[in-house]
Amino acid sequence: MNTNASEQAINDAQLNLQLNDLAERYVRLSLRVGQHSEYFVDAYYGPDSWRPHSISDPLSSIEEQCCALIRLLETLPVSASSNLCQRQQFLTIQSKALLYYIEQLQGKTSTYQQECERLYDANVPSYDAVHFDAILHQLEQLVPGEGELNQRIAQYREQFIVPPEKLSQVFDVAISEARERTLKHVELPDCESFDVQLTNNQVWSAYNWYKGNSYSLIELNTDHPIFIERVIDLAAHEGYPGHHVFNALIEKHLVNERGWLEYSIYNLYSPVSLLAEGSANYGIEVAFPWDERLMFEQEVLFPLAGLNPSGAEQYYEIQRVLHQLSYADNLIAQQWMDDEIDDEQAIKLLMKYALNSEERAGQRLSFIKHNRAYVMTYNYGQDLVKAYLAEQVKGDSNDALWRAFTALLATPKTASMMVSASSS
Ligand SMILES: [Zn+2]
Repeated sequence: MNTNASEQAINDAQLNLQLNDLAERYVRLSLRVGQHSEYFVDAYYGPDSWRPHSISDPLSSIEEQCCALIRLLETLPVSASSNLCQRQQFLTIQSKALLYYIEQLQGKTSTYQQECERLYDANVPSYDAVHFDAILHQLEQLVPGEGELNQRIAQYREQFIVPPEKLSQVFDVAISEARERTLKHVELPDCESFDVQLTNNQVWSAYNWYKGNSYSLIELNTDHPIFIERVIDLAAHEGYPGHHVFNALIEKHLVNERGWLEYSIYNLYSPVSLLAEGSANYGIEVAFPWDERLMFEQEVLFPLAGLNPSGAEQYYEIQRVLHQLSYADNLIAQQWMDDEIDDEQAIKLLMKYALNSEERAGQRLSFIKHNRAYVMTYNYGQDLVKAYLAEQVKGDSNDALWRAFTALLATPKTASMMVSASSS
């Protein structure tokens, strides 16, 4: 090692120690914010001694401490090491979003666009009604039956409901297939495991609660019928290679191996969610490319659920088109957040453009009210992760795609980091 290189190594070691200290501040502040907002801290498995043991500081004091943290992060020297540079950048972006959330908790109002940018670090495209009308027109041709499209869809989809008594078994088979496919490409800790529990009365359809030590509790909401396509979607999204794998890789590589404890906390309303939801959604396609998925559905899942596999191909063609309507949720969230429409109009639009029944539209509106701009992390996150990986992997090798996908999960990037990596 020459003098310059050894000096660099010493500087980096010092910088890493400084970042450890700032990471602790970030975690402690996030936990304090969690005392003011029940769902904010989605997972935490760092040191127990960092949990606040007293009544929380007022938000104004947490805000001051967060501003001080950001100032310190911004005065640190920039490392030549790409790992450290990425650590610094990620922690700074997460801390700025934390500050914005603290401001919101104190009453700051935000438009949809501001929330996308400031809370999720994302510059999200928007589509207008004309865009969705064209997709609806396509569906008019595809979906059998007569009458209003949302009713036709509802009627057509009934034959694809997984009978409740078969749900656990069908889901178990899907999750072991998703796990097997993932383990061929991703090295996971030996002890990784999960449990699945059925629940109800929730605004979400499924949830992964990551508990640390490579363990997840996956909950499935049985308030509404579960359609067959949701089985693989949920197995991959919540489990393999989705949230469970993402969290297990972060814990293994960043928290345990490097001691970067800022990653031991997951703040739900923050930039990391865009990658979490986006990669969990795109991971479905990575683990189950279209033809393979269709074959597995027809040969295994449909018979197991007692459904007729002959209708699978048409059903999945329709699902593909329906998926393009997912951005309608963003438009409706934007209009509702920006006071352009009220609840009643939002429900009407959810029935028209997301083709929900009135009851489902009501449930979806509750989700939007609860999570606001978070809704775009699923579809925009998916598109961004897909575009970023396409840029990393030239050609169509599935192995190379898995490698790039795993690398992204193990060293997370926020939206602006993915966009600037793609354009540089
Ligand atoms: Zn998710």
